[in-house]
Amino acid sequence: MSKTLQAIRGMNDILPEQTPTWRYLESTFASLLDAYGYREIRLPILEFTELFARGIGEGTDVVDKEMYTFRDRNDESLTLRPEGTAGTVRAVLEHGLTGGGQVQKLWYTGPMFRYEKPQKGRYRQFHQIGVEVFNLPGPDIDAELIALTWRLWKALGLGDSVTLQLNSLGSSEARGVYRDALVAYLEKHFDALDEDSQRRLKTNPLRILDSKNAMTQALLADAPTLADYLDDDSRAHFEGLKARLDAMGITYEINPKLVRGLDYYGRTVFEWVTDKLGAQGTVCAGGRYDGLISQFGGKPTPGVGFAMGVERLVLLLETLERVPEALNAPAHAYLCAFGEEAERAAMALAESLRNEVPGLRLLVNSGSGSFKSQFKKADKSGAVYALILGDDELAQRVVGCKPLRDDREQQTIGWDALAAHLATCIEQA
Ligand code: ATP
Ligand code: MG
Repeated sequence: MSKTLQAIRGMNDILPEQTPTWRYLESTFASLLDAYGYREIRLPILEFTELFARGIGEGTDVVDKEMYTFRDRNDESLTLRPEGTAGTVRAVLEHGLTGGGQVQKLWYTGPMFRYEKPQKGRYRQFHQIGVEVFNLPGPDIDAELIALTWRLWKALGLGDSVTLQLNSLGSSEARGVYRDALVAYLEKHFDALDEDSQRRLKTNPLRILDSKNAMTQALLADAPTLADYLDDDSRAHFEGLKARLDAMGITYEINPKLVRGLDYYGRTVFEWVTDKLGAQGTVCAGGRYDGLISQFGGKPTPGVGFAMGVERLVLLLETLERVPEALNAPAHAYLCAFGEEAERAAMALAESLRNEVPGLRLLVNSGSGSFKSQFKKADKSGAVYALILGDDELAQRVVGCKPLRDDREQQTIGWDALAAHLATCIEQA
């Protein structure tokens, strides 16, 4: 017997019941980004592997363990993008969008791919909405990015369910000094570290700070903290950010263990976290990466951005029942027609109604059927009215309009008056 075909583990179908929530989230954010003057960029899903090796960095989990990499027919090594920043940087450099100090405020959305252990809130194909800003070094833009996300949570009714965690990573020199101090401390406790952290001690020691291992976390309680090593400029930058957040009334928690373990990240890092989703609680993560563009061979160019996990936000909306009911609004009307001639007239009538009534949700019965079966389908569709077109109605150029959701009587309405009638019904709904 042939095996039934299945989707790849960790790669989900998003079914029709779920897509309204996705669209709600995406369109809410898209209009918010419009309002702040950010422009969308659309990028390929496949890039040369080297882009991510350089852009995300060897020694990170993403590059070392999580990428979908393969050779194409031309023997080039390609990778399904695991995130959006590297591709955005490649595109702005390739098209000269940041030349001459031009400011760019960009956003993107789409699927990302990481070979991870699938679980709730963690998948192998997942979606991000991300924002990247170039050529603005000051803390004002960091504050704007946070304000923008904060506004999104409020627009989605999630404001009370997420908290902002904030940290500054300082300059790369300051971090270097701190890294040495951290390594010296952890080496003394090497045997007590979890296996991942032992490995990271050599490759990416700052990442140990966000280890989920309890023993390691206990050790870290007495470790030197990054805040004590911040350089003066970074300290001033961080104070500038905090002052702006305070002025906007955005509350935050300083989390000295929040890190991005790569050298081109510096100064601001932030995460929005929730305690409503279990272990996968970070819904949005971002930071400043002033060193990244020069890593790609471009002129030093300040950059700052964030990415949010769409699946986790959809889960949060569902868990907290914040999906607006109107998203699943049924059709206003379901048009039933009986007999070939009436069916033809029904399609033409439906098209003219769609022309004349903006926002009309009109279903036309497909596949003929008896009066009883069409009526049953009309009822099941959730439509507010059934419109009925049989031979008699056709001869008189009218339809029967039967309210399906209350006890009002069926009315007979002339074709000419139908658009106006439906428009009033929609208004009253
Ligand atoms: P985590 O620590 O959860 O693995 P990360 O640091 O790898 O997160 P980023 O690369 O910063 O995540 O991605 C930004 C956001 O994208 C995350 O905060 C999360 O909301 C989402 N995200 C990342 N990986 C996944 C995944 N495999 N499945 C679903 N969402 C994800
Ligand atoms: Mg990860």
